[in-house]
Amino acid sequence: MLRYQKIFIIFVVILISIAIADFFMHIPFHIYAGIILAFIGLLAWGSANIRSGLFFKTMCSANMDKRSVALTFDDGPDNEITPSLLDLLRKEDIRAAFFCIGEKAEKNPDLLRQMDKEGHVIGGHSYTHHSFFDFFSSKRMLREMEKSEESVYKGINRKIKLFRPPFGVTNPALARATGKKKYNVIGWSLRSKDTVIKDEDKLFERVAKRVKPGDIILFHDTQRHTINVLEKFIKFAKEDGYSFERLDKHLGIEAYE
Ligand SMILES: [Zn+2]
Repeated sequence: MLRYQKIFIIFVVILISIAIADFFMHIPFHIYAGIILAFIGLLAWGSANIRSGLFFKTMCSANMDKRSVALTFDDGPDNEITPSLLDLLRKEDIRAAFFCIGEKAEKNPDLLRQMDKEGHVIGGHSYTHHSFFDFFSSKRMLREMEKSEESVYKGINRKIKLFRPPFGVTNPALARATGKKKYNVIGWSLRSKDTVIKDEDKLFERVAKRVKPGDIILFHDTQRHTINVLEKFIKFAKEDGYSFERLDKHLGIEAYE
């Protein structure tokens, strides 16, 4: 049984117990309302925090003391940004994970092949990255996953096993869909916020200050300034004794079927 289902049962048991107690002493309405609101609040918090594991298991970091981290890039491939990023990773001899949007993967098969050839791994990140993806039914989510799988398969002839939920949101529909696909669902432990923080110094500081052994670091290969900051961060981390491991090796899992 999943964690949120157990929590749901606990809340129902509490509500029934209070309803029984209501026969013997008056229980004010706000007690019922408070319990229901607490349950809704817990679900909302669990949905917005990929590390909560409330709906299903997600892998967000590696448990290790070794100064090793994994770089991950979402929302590409982008025909302007991704090539420069691949150049930087090649120069620094680093292998990363790319969580590609299916639609974009379909339009850029050469970039997928380059990623694969240069030793990076590719994971799914839905087909459309639709703004309302979190409100889709599990069937529609499954269709998105299958289409994005196909678009990667057409490019590199491999069936993906890594998946990162769009926006990092988890919910019961996604639990059903990812469960059917038997994906390794990947989160992060260090979010760069590179789509929000445009100031390069601030972005560098944020990542450099927070990095710790075992981290999975989230960037996007859609932002020009990410490349400059990443170059600086890689230099800083290497000097600080960190090495960069490919995500699947970092977690000891398979990237493809
Ligand atoms: Zn995304």
